[in-house]
Amino acid sequence: MSIITWEYAPNGVFPFRKPQVTVKHYSPCPDETHKVKTFSDLNLIEALQKAVSSEGYDVPTPIQEQAIPHLLGGRDLLGCAQTGTGKTAAFALPILQNLVETGGRKGRIRVLVLTPTRELAAQIKDSFITYGRHLDILTTVIFGGVKQLQQEKELKKRPDILVATPGRLLDLIGQGHVTLEHLEVFVLDEADRMLDMGFIHDVRRVITSLPKQRQSLFFSATMPPAVAKLASSMLIKPVRVEVTPSATPVERIRQSVYFVDQKDKRKLLQWLLDDGEVSRALVFTRTKHGASRVAQFLKRAGVNVSAIHGDKAQNARTRALEGFRSGDVRVLVATDIAARGIDVESISHVFNFDLPNVPETYVHRIGRTARAGAEGMAFSFCSGTELTELKDIEKMLRFKIARTRDHKYHSPDAEKGLVDGVPAVEVKKQREQERQERIRVYKASKKQRR
Ligand code: AMP
Repeated sequence: MSIITWEYAPNGVFPFRKPQVTVKHYSPCPDETHKVKTFSDLNLIEALQKAVSSEGYDVPTPIQEQAIPHLLGGRDLLGCAQTGTGKTAAFALPILQNLVETGGRKGRIRVLVLTPTRELAAQIKDSFITYGRHLDILTTVIFGGVKQLQQEKELKKRPDILVATPGRLLDLIGQGHVTLEHLEVFVLDEADRMLDMGFIHDVRRVITSLPKQRQSLFFSATMPPAVAKLASSMLIKPVRVEVTPSATPVERIRQSVYFVDQKDKRKLLQWLLDDGEVSRALVFTRTKHGASRVAQFLKRAGVNVSAIHGDKAQNARTRALEGFRSGDVRVLVATDIAARGIDVESISHVFNFDLPNVPETYVHRIGRTARAGAEGMAFSFCSGTELTELKDIEKMLRFKIARTRDHKYHSPDAEKGLVDGVPAVEVKKQREQERQERIRVYKASKKQRR
């Protein structure tokens, strides 16, 4: 195994939005002095080369360069990569090519892509359609949260590729609308997120309904033991490819921390949004409930805002996203899960309304801005109870984020890790006790009702 740092900028132009990524090659051992390949070097057929070229892709991203030759050869793959690395094309291109070269349309589902969220499912379907636009291959997507009838109709057209979220897929299998007995390729996308969202049993059930003889691809941004176990249960001698965006955030992003008491965060956000420079802002909250509350507050204050999180109906989520993309909606409030996979250009500002407890999430969040050469800003709100999160983030970044104190909501208490003069550790302990008490009361009342 060898590790190289990939800094590629042919013609001095970064073809891809993450200019620096660390690439770990496991197999085969690469020539570290090698040149960046083109799509034709990867032996892709004309029709696919034409499609990627009209998408404006000049060169393959690292994961594409590494994965495509193996996938064309029918190998299983274990990919440690997240959205934003070009992983969709890394699997979609060779899958499309193999389908065409082994007979094209056969009137049955030959490929299944399982993905945790509806947005991601829709985006993957769109990618298959985009890359396969010069081929006769039919792709269909199914996900929950919308009526089933239209999806049943689409399935009757006998697609070659099915992109699905687990719950709706199992429903449709149970009702006999989907059969996977002739499946040739199975892709499990964002496996870690599947587990986080509690889909592990559904995923296992889907896997048991697949033919044993198949090509399997497994993608996950992280590889905790439970994910690695699932991978080893479904892959045979996989090629391993790991592409992680560098932990160094894009230099163009200007970052700043605001120390503020929790109760003042919404007012601070409103005040910052009043600045005319904020043309398109993405606001991250930790919880769905928090996202709704922030959006409602801003709406009342006259801000053009939408919220997107798992509790929203699919139509509302799609509408919010379209509005944000088109520029009709200036501010989008989202949770990390809902925002995953969303690819929107020209976000001028990212606000961390709540700091994430996983430091890497900070980098993913702020990476949404400063795309396509633009300069972006990332503002993070830190209350007294979030000082530990801030320290963890800064430890990972290996630098201190600039502090902005000259604003009317600045809280010296928050900066010292205090909440109303009380140390945050005490406050957290107290909150945890209250939470346990609520759970106890809830359980007791449930028992009584039985
Ligand atoms: P993904 O990681 O698949 O979600 O892709 C992230 C973004 O990168 C999408 O907007 C793709 O259109 C774009 N992309 C994928 N491959 C390339 C490439 N080779 N060159 C430039 N952009 C790409």
